[in-house]
Amino acid sequence: MARGIATRCLHLEEEEGDNSNYGAVSYPIYQTATYAHSGVGRSTGYDYSRLQNPTREHLEKVVTTLENGTDALALSSGMAAVALMMELFRPGDHLIVDADLYGGSIRLFRNISEKNGIRFSSMDCCKEDVERYINENTKAVYIETPTNPMMNVTDIEALSRITKKHQLLLIVDNTFLSPYFQNPLDLGADIVVHSGTKFLGGHNDTLAGFLVTNRADISEQFRFLIKTTGAGLAPFDSWLILRGIKTLGIRMECAQKNAIAIAEWLQGQKAVTKVIYPGLPSHQGYAVMKRQARGFGAMITFQVKSREFALAILENVRMIKFAESLGGVETLITYPSTQTHADVPEEIRERNGITERTLRLSVGIEDVKDLTEELDSVFKAAEEDLYG
Ligand SMILES: *Cc1c(COP(=O)(O)O)cnc(C)c1O
Repeated sequence: MARGIATRCLHLEEEEGDNSNYGAVSYPIYQTATYAHSGVGRSTGYDYSRLQNPTREHLEKVVTTLENGTDALALSSGMAAVALMMELFRPGDHLIVDADLYGGSIRLFRNISEKNGIRFSSMDCCKEDVERYINENTKAVYIETPTNPMMNVTDIEALSRITKKHQLLLIVDNTFLSPYFQNPLDLGADIVVHSGTKFLGGHNDTLAGFLVTNRADISEQFRFLIKTTGAGLAPFDSWLILRGIKTLGIRMECAQKNAIAIAEWLQGQKAVTKVIYPGLPSHQGYAVMKRQARGFGAMITFQVKSREFALAILENVRMIKFAESLGGVETLITYPSTQTHADVPEEIRERNGITERTLRLSVGIEDVKDLTEELDSVFKAAEEDLYG
């Protein structure tokens, strides 16, 4: 029987009984660039830290077990992970991508991958028929679920039946739920992408990214690519993410509990015109989420009555930080149209429903009453600023 996920955040079963690190309970930071050999042809298995580093490897093993994969790569950021993943493709290849994605992924596809000869069709994966977009050059489908920032939910298993039938890769960015709540490989995905900067790290203090797979052929290509392109996560940063992961379970549970309370609070506000949280039964993806995930996460997108009201909220927050990023212990509020999704062309933003009235909350682990009290005073101050 596999151990529970909260236990797997703390203990790597395969290394138990191995006392080569003096029994250190916290995995050591191997801050070294290179490794000495006792003679020609006699390697410890470690030659150079771009290829292998014990601290990074330990982290990769932990993330592998959390996502039920067979291999994981730790990269220097989420975007480094996406960029490395794109090296699987060659000029002429075609990818189908969800229309609503993290802005940085859209920027990479549009400005770098297209220049390299890769073609994209962007579609609404939770509503449209993917098969209509498949052509003879199609190699993969790339999605997030729930999406950043509009929280659209795609049925991973249903989509994987289509990708398998057409021999396409299914790539799922699982950043918003983390492996604690959702495991796309179990649902038929081939590759899972993470911004480890977010829930996995969890403390708004380190950038990291992951690629996880359960396919030996893809793992082999990834290992060649990380060795060749060199975006592997540094030893100290690997250690910080390892430390963050230890509390993934309790952080996710607490942040989600707070998020449910705040989503309900927002629904009661006259100035709020829409609350998009997949844990609300009114959400488009509620039933699918119940089936494919173990939780709803801690991300809430909401619309307010005017652009001016959205700006006034951002001017008035104090404890809640007006900042990009998500998934940390501190609650952050983001303005997608000028921050995370600023480089997404306006017509795409509008089609996806991201307007100047859209705000995104990453709910942290503060006492929930302090969060609702702060929001209450922020909303009152915003009314005051605008209408006196
Ligand atoms: C933040 C984010 C990324 C990019 O990760 P970085 O660590 O910031 O490079 C990718 N996908 C999603 C869904 C994200 O939220």
